Amino acid sequence: MELSGKVAVVTGGSRGIGRAVCLRLASLGATVIINYVSRSDAADEVVKEIEGNGGKSGVYQFNVADTAAVTEAFKAILADHGRIDILVNNAGITRDGLFMKMKESDWDDVLNINLKGAYNCIKAVTRPMMKQRQGAIISITSVIGFAGNAGQANYSAAKAGLIGLTRSLAKELSARNITVNGVAPGYIDTDMTKDLPDNVKDIILSEIPLKRMGDPEDIAGAVAFLASDDGKYITGQFIHVNGGMFMG
Ligand code: NAP
Repeated sequence: MELSGKVAVVTGGSRGIGRAVCLRLASLGATVIINYVSRSDAADEVVKEIEGNGGKSGVYQFNVADTAAVTEAFKAILADHGRIDILVNNAGITRDGLFMKMKESDWDDVLNINLKGAYNCIKAVTRPMMKQRQGAIISITSVIGFAGNAGQANYSAAKAGLIGLTRSLAKELSARNITVNGVAPGYIDTDMTKDLPDNVKDIILSEIPLKRMGDPEDIAGAVAFLASDDGKYITGQFIHVNGGMFMG
């Protein structure tokens, strides 16, 4: 796999899965734009690691849910780097709770960041990618978007929305040689999952045939494949990276 000369934007690239995706794409030769919302220290570490390995990167702070901020940031990225070949919609949050008790703000925050955030970023890259007649859009969905999960109605709805968005855009944008795909992780060892109580982790592990949580690098490999020429005839698809817990 080879990504030399390509410019990739990874939302939520400062930590967890996004960080691993940034490092992987940079190791394959892409210039990687790291987005974060609040943890500039973590984003700077990713830049340091990429540049320490001889790679190229840039860092842009914005909240993916803020349409005006996203529009401005992508204008700046295009002005600074000339093109965007790869967009990875990775930024995401959870606000778990049983639906009966779920606050409207928990619904709105999750939908706004996980789904509207992807809409905002895809809107910002569609025109430049159409002009280039080339692009790869990859969204990090979730096993929960396919299978559902008690206590995650908001998250599940957002991720299922991302799945529908991906399929529709794959049909709309293919005439311009833009592929639109998703990677659907199972349970991955990141800050998002580190505070799960031990008894919940035990239940989850009992449902995973490979008997372990995944690493962020497991997701990065699937993203890199879809972003590279090896994945250029794949569109509207989802790679399930979940240790076998859901076979879609
Ligand atoms: P994480 O460790 O909590 O990292 C979240 C990342 O998203 C951080 O870089 C954070 O930036 C960024 N972010 C959060 N809100 C943002 C916003 N409004 N605007 C821009 N960036 C924002 O999460 P993760 O586990 O790596 O998850 C990454 C993606 O994979 C998410 O979409 C998640 O839903 C999905 N996923 C994760 C798992 C899992 O088991 N971990 C499973 C399935 C799917 P700051 O550093 O600035 O806070």
